[in-house]
Amino acid sequence: MDTRYPQQRISVFDIFKVGVGPSSSHTMGPWRAAERFVRTLVMDRVIESVRRIGVDLYGSLAKTGIGHGTDVAVLLGLSGEDPETVPRCVIDEIRRSVRGVEHLALAGGVHVGFEYTRDIRFHRDQALGYHPNGMTLTASVSNGRSIQETYYSIGGGFVVQEDEGPRPEAQVTLPYPIDTAADILRWIRSQDQPQPISSLVLENERVWDPQDRIEQRLQHIFTVMRDCVFNGLNTERTLPGGLGVARRARRLACSLLPQPWPDNAEEFFAAVAHSAGKPAAAGAAGFEQVLRWVSAFALAVNEENADFGRVVTAPTNGAAGVVPAVLLYYRYFVAGASDSGVARFLLTAGEIGSVFKKGATISAAQGGCQAEIGVSSAMAAAGLTEVLGGSPEQVLMAAEISMEHHLGLTCDPVGGLVQVPCIERNTMGAVKAITAASLALASDPEGARVSLDDVIEAMWSTALDMNSKYKETSEGGLAARIPINVIEC
Ligand code: SF4
Repeated sequence: MDTRYPQQRISVFDIFKVGVGPSSSHTMGPWRAAERFVRTLVMDRVIESVRRIGVDLYGSLAKTGIGHGTDVAVLLGLSGEDPETVPRCVIDEIRRSVRGVEHLALAGGVHVGFEYTRDIRFHRDQALGYHPNGMTLTASVSNGRSIQETYYSIGGGFVVQEDEGPRPEAQVTLPYPIDTAADILRWIRSQDQPQPISSLVLENERVWDPQDRIEQRLQHIFTVMRDCVFNGLNTERTLPGGLGVARRARRLACSLLPQPWPDNAEEFFAAVAHSAGKPAAAGAAGFEQVLRWVSAFALAVNEENADFGRVVTAPTNGAAGVVPAVLLYYRYFVAGASDSGVARFLLTAGEIGSVFKKGATISAAQGGCQAEIGVSSAMAAAGLTEVLGGSPEQVLMAAEISMEHHLGLTCDPVGGLVQVPCIERNTMGAVKAITAASLALASDPEGARVSLDDVIEAMWSTALDMNSKYKETSEGGLAARIPINVIEC
């Protein structure tokens, strides 16, 4: 099976999507698959006659589905809730009661039979051939007919069916079609005037949206990321799932910024920048302070993610803290940072995520954690290098350096929860990204022996060689050493 995405056109907004934790492939993907199934029932004009719904989860979705909230996500998707807007209290309520569910309001209105203990089945010993994250949804209709669809959650919240062609949005003609890092350089070098990578990406995005709409959407992504950090820094409790992991971001931030804190994000981050001694001229604030803040930002996002909070996939939920941590580092600790810089950061980072998706994978079930934290770190390194004035070659070099030092990273979440090692691992990805940007900015890419495309190929071949127990099954590594009883709620 090869679910890479060559020649498919992917928008930056396919990589950065607002959603709900804890997992893009095990929560967001199944949620979107359930929504798609409901749309199929509507289009087939059978939704009013559905009597019962069945859900079969296979492979990695079955093995770590409960810890990742796959069951909750499917029920919310079938109920017509949108992960971008669903209130947190609705998620919390269904999490509390999921095992007692006895019926569903399909698409929010059609009442159908659904008994949790009978109608959602975790096939832990079976995997479907196309991708490890397979799921089948079945609707029993009043005339005795059944409608059945199988979906695959292939990472980053993307959902496909085995025999479907490219999405209509992926079939557009872009001015600068990009599949590889070499394509980026070729387009850059073909311009009369040198331009940064973000300008190229913006031109492509204009095929989908007018520029003002793109700018609004980028600002929205930034705001959701920043609010996620703010919420995470203002919450202190033990994470759900039975592992007993205490949230730490708030305590770390409290050691850096005396209370009381401003109660809105804008003023809070202004105070954070001030506390770290943001310099008036070019340069960065004190190293130790910044290191702790960047770690606090990353922890905050992934604690929110583990707590079913609202996050932005970047490119996945498990790795959702790396890009915001580095982006906030840029916005609040680097002199001369601006809103337009934030947009350029996100455009560049998003394109790097796409190149990894097309040439390798952003699914831990296919490639281990190198596909999540490794890719997010490469994205952040590229975005930061772009806004710190790096050349396109240095931007790509930063992404290459960052991934080079994540190659082979396995995925072994303890208890199937996106907590250990996931939350801390985001801090490592963020710090490596900043280091990679710094190294690239101080280097001459002409002398580099390894290109970004080389490292993407190496990542893909490593993914193919990796033992399957290290691909989001919780059967190897740390997960095998620290067995826990996951609380199934
Ligand atoms: S170990 Fe890495 S890839 Fe696996 S769930 Fe955690 S963050 Fe995601």
